[in-house]
Amino acid sequence: MALEPPAGDERSLLMTFVLKPLPYGKTALSPTISATTMELHYEKHHRGYVEKLNKLTAGTAMSLLPLERVVETAWGDPNSAGIFNNAAQVWNHDFFWQSMSPTGGVRSIDRLAGRIDTAFGSYGAFERKFVESAVAQFGSGWIWLVADAGQLKIMTTGDALTPIVLGLRPLVTCDLWEHAYYLDYQSDREKYVRAFLARLVNWEFAVEQMAMGEARQPERAPV
Ligand code: MN
Repeated sequence: MALEPPAGDERSLLMTFVLKPLPYGKTALSPTISATTMELHYEKHHRGYVEKLNKLTAGTAMSLLPLERVVETAWGDPNSAGIFNNAAQVWNHDFFWQSMSPTGGVRSIDRLAGRIDTAFGSYGAFERKFVESAVAQFGSGWIWLVADAGQLKIMTTGDALTPIVLGLRPLVTCDLWEHAYYLDYQSDREKYVRAFLARLVNWEFAVEQMAMGEARQPERAPV
């Protein structure tokens, strides 16, 4: 289908949702995640979800909502499955990039170490459960550390599903779609997830997410 490039106001309507800039350069996570993977993952996959979401919502009420509200509104509506999948994938990728840092990994866990020990027994037990869960996720999806009413839990979701529609607060995530690791680790998802935990996971970001969730708690409407 040939589309004329939009002009003037039409362009701004089509560009409602934006590809957020990466929080670091494309070589910053190398060699754990190569620049080639970053280039393809961000410029093709992530950008593709943004562009598709803009197409699907152009001229509709959805295009006026913040991304998180689009995800929540489209969730569970069979007529909005395409919008949900693309909006949730945009949200998940924004969150994934922030879940990593060139100075992340186990060395940066200090401020969460106590909470991890409380929830899982030890860092080693947490790592085992995180890796096992990631490997057990069938097909494409995501692995998350979430706060469920203040309790830390590991969970996986399939395809685009995101914990924000399940009433859970994500703290960090790792992308389990093959496009996230195949060039660097081929079919070895376990090695990729172990490297993510060892060298990339941004525990400072997790602490910030948890603090935001706890600050928000009193504002929740009574059920
Ligand atoms: Mn991805």
